[in-house]
Amino acid sequence: MSASQINDLSKLCIHTITCKPWTLEQAAKKFSAAGVGGITIWRDALTGRNIRETAKLLRTLNLTVVSLCRGGFFPSLDPSARKAAITDNIKAIDEAAELGAPLVVLVCGAAPGQSLADSREHIREGIAACVHHAEKKGVVLAIEPLHPMYAGDRSAINTLAQANDLAEYFNSPWVGVAVDVYHVWWDPDLQHQLIRCGEKRNLSAFHICDWSVPTLDLLNDRGLMGEGCINIKEIRGWVEEAGFTGFNEVEIFSTKHWKEDQAIFFDKIINAYQHCS
Ligand code: ZN
Repeated sequence: MSASQINDLSKLCIHTITCKPWTLEQAAKKFSAAGVGGITIWRDALTGRNIRETAKLLRTLNLTVVSLCRGGFFPSLDPSARKAAITDNIKAIDEAAELGAPLVVLVCGAAPGQSLADSREHIREGIAACVHHAEKKGVVLAIEPLHPMYAGDRSAINTLAQANDLAEYFNSPWVGVAVDVYHVWWDPDLQHQLIRCGEKRNLSAFHICDWSVPTLDLLNDRGLMGEGCINIKEIRGWVEEAGFTGFNEVEIFSTKHWKEDQAIFFDKIINAYQHCS
């Protein structure tokens, strides 16, 4: 089955970090004026802001707050740092609830100096310490598997299979999975794991961008949809077959695109969404 056609922007969500040079107000007003349906807020965009007022502004602009990015970073060799990470994740859950965001994306973390298996155990402990608070606040914790190139220090959860295993371990409506094409496009088991994720009702978020060839920076050289080698339409088709009906979230960290006039870049995002996603 091929992916359905994207005809309007009501299921488009853009992450504030995608248009990082814009303030939250600038971004929200531009997205809203163009008919974009959703916005995902990065916590840095909330610095110094009144969260309740921000939520009110986004409601006034008719934007659905899709998620808050990001929590996680649970593993550490230092027990006090692990405790601090849990405290910070509890704070992120509170911020999400105040903002009206139903979901916090988890970049789970990895601690150089210990095995990935040990880091995964810290991640399990960290989520376990937060899940009751998440339930109390009505916020889902979404485990985002990260590409294996980040296994050194950003995440010990590197495949959708591992994210599924962890989500299924918790077996809770408050623990889900965030699928980002950038991290999982290479995986020969992707289609099967997406179906598994959907069957267990764990598919909580879908992030899109592209893989630049060559990739010049491991973090900040994500491509706009259509600029790279990911078959986004095919993956979106699998995501929809798995039962996902949520937003398509454009999440691009790109030094190149941040240097552009953001109004021009924004027009490119809309065009790429309609034709290359
Ligand atoms: Zn993502």
